[in-house]
Amino acid sequence: MTKVSDPVEASKRFGTCELKHKMTWATVENCREFFQTMAIKHKFSTQQVRNDRERYILACKDPSCEWTITATLTRKNMHTFVLRNYNDEHTCEASVKNKFTQARAPWVAQALENKMREHLDYRPKDIQAEIVFQYGVSISYWIGWNARTLIFEVINGNYEGYRLVPEMCRQIIKSNPSSFAKHFVNEKNQSFIGVVVAFKSSLDGWLNGCRPIVGLDGCFLKGKCHEWDSPSWFLHMQRGEWGYMEAVPM
Ligand SMILES: [Zn+2]
Repeated sequence: MTKVSDPVEASKRFGTCELKHKMTWATVENCREFFQTMAIKHKFSTQQVRNDRERYILACKDPSCEWTITATLTRKNMHTFVLRNYNDEHTCEASVKNKFTQARAPWVAQALENKMREHLDYRPKDIQAEIVFQYGVSISYWIGWNARTLIFEVINGNYEGYRLVPEMCRQIIKSNPSSFAKHFVNEKNQSFIGVVVAFKSSLDGWLNGCRPIVGLDGCFLKGKCHEWDSPSWFLHMQRGEWGYMEAVPM
């Protein structure tokens, strides 16, 4: 029995994508990724006959072809999918064109996420080369570009998260009274600059148990949005409304 449990490692572990009766996948996403990879490797295209929480049924895109698979959710843990039925014989002809149909940016992103975490400097053309090397599939520059964007969103988060910061600060103060939670935005364009959070219990512990000296290490947050010089912001905080301590030049 083949068991695929780690989605990131999945594409490497699929190997030649052989089907075995009652083989399992940890989630329906793993199951989908397996058959997408299989279609690319075996040069055919699939169409979904059913794709819901309990059943995943695929057929070959050629309506005259008899290739089909049925995987269903097991009641055991409510996330494992098991291969119930399959006919792995294609009566259609494999086509090189079919490789391109399946190799879109989300698939490329999933296939190379792990590799990209080790090589953050990969450019779209490196992604193109890696996909040719691993899967024998040529992808366009723009699929490589989009896949790169998707992978960086998984690694770094996307812009959506910044919109939640003001509410996060309000909720911190509401549920931890007398704590400090404040975010800073660029006044010109309202873009995110930084956020400072200090919980009341930590502040009390610090005021009661420590001398009022804070050592600041240079920590410059450099991301796709901004550069944030945290020491200068921290000092700005304590000089201003916070006022818990005096700055001591060292
Ligand atoms: Zn077929």
